[in-house]
Amino acid sequence: MPATILDGTKIAQQIRAEVAEEVKALAAANLRPGLAVLLVGHNPASEIYVRGKIKACEEVGIYSETLTPPESVTTSELLAHVSELNRRDDIDGILVQLPLPPQVDAKKVLLAVEPAKDVDGFHPMNVGFLSTQRPGLVPCTPAGVMEILRRSQIPVTGREAVVVGRSDIVGKPVAMLLTNANATVTICHSKTHDLAGVCRRADILVAAIGRAGMITRDFVKPGTAVIDVGINTVTDPAEFRRFFAGNTKREEAFYKKGSTLVGDVHPEVAEVAGALTPVPGGVGPLTIAMLMFNTVKAAKMRRGSRVPEMSRA
Ligand code: NDP
Repeated sequence: MPATILDGTKIAQQIRAEVAEEVKALAAANLRPGLAVLLVGHNPASEIYVRGKIKACEEVGIYSETLTPPESVTTSELLAHVSELNRRDDIDGILVQLPLPPQVDAKKVLLAVEPAKDVDGFHPMNVGFLSTQRPGLVPCTPAGVMEILRRSQIPVTGREAVVVGRSDIVGKPVAMLLTNANATVTICHSKTHDLAGVCRRADILVAAIGRAGMITRDFVKPGTAVIDVGINTVTDPAEFRRFFAGNTKREEAFYKKGSTLVGDVHPEVAEVAGALTPVPGGVGPLTIAMLMFNTVKAAKMRRGSRVPEMSRA
């Protein structure tokens, strides 16, 4: 039986609708969550991502503003922006869009963001809160992975979870969240021996690698829930055919656009997996939805004393 396709777009819409309700409840207490984005220079991909985030803010009723320092900005100028945003009471979330230009000390800038406003959840303080199961801000994409599992009624407790990838922004926090949710977790990376064999142990397999279609059917035990975090752009027709030969709808789109997005999981995995997130339309849409969620959470955590008990859940 082919895998159940887990519709991330639909789940993200549900979350955005819930966040919009929360924002309405907060408005009744005169509180409007606010998100500030620092977008340096003119990186086209970053500009697209930021546009998506600002549009989502408008849709759910979150106040947003974008600061656009030039490509030539210095570390100290960016630190001054962050410090001003840290100080402002109307800003609940600060997002520093990466990558930053090479002359900027990105680590120093990210470390300067007030942990209570760190809606990306990358600050070491929030990493520590996550690993010690304290309330804090959880990175958006990993939080989105957990929402997909939870809202698709995929049980986690006591099950074998394998995470391929150990980055600070995806692999490690996903593994931590799965551990906190009582899965038995194995983390794999480029030095793992017999990767396919380890992956075949999984009831839940999360791929966060950055290699198009690397997880093929021989990595997957029948019935496994496979969550594909990877987003890879394929432009080579031969590579395209390796994934989508015979898929006329995708072929038409590929030849028209000259590229397509492929996850880290080969589409053939749908023939063995129990459930699978597609790319696009799987984990991707959850990232912005969880950013909206985090901004409201940050507002409630920081300004909570001014929010009536009813809306503080
Ligand atoms: P990184 O490059 O930071 O990490 C990749 C990880 O995969 C590393 O731990 C690396 O191992 C491991 N890896 C690489 N090659 C292999 C291999 N051959 N076998 C086993 N492990 C391997 O990537 P990110 O975590 O930032 O992103 C992963 C993917 O997720 C990318 O495709 C990215 O575009 C996507 N992504 C999607 C998001 C979304 O919104 N859906 C958000 C963020 C990322 P090692 O540590 O040993 O080098």
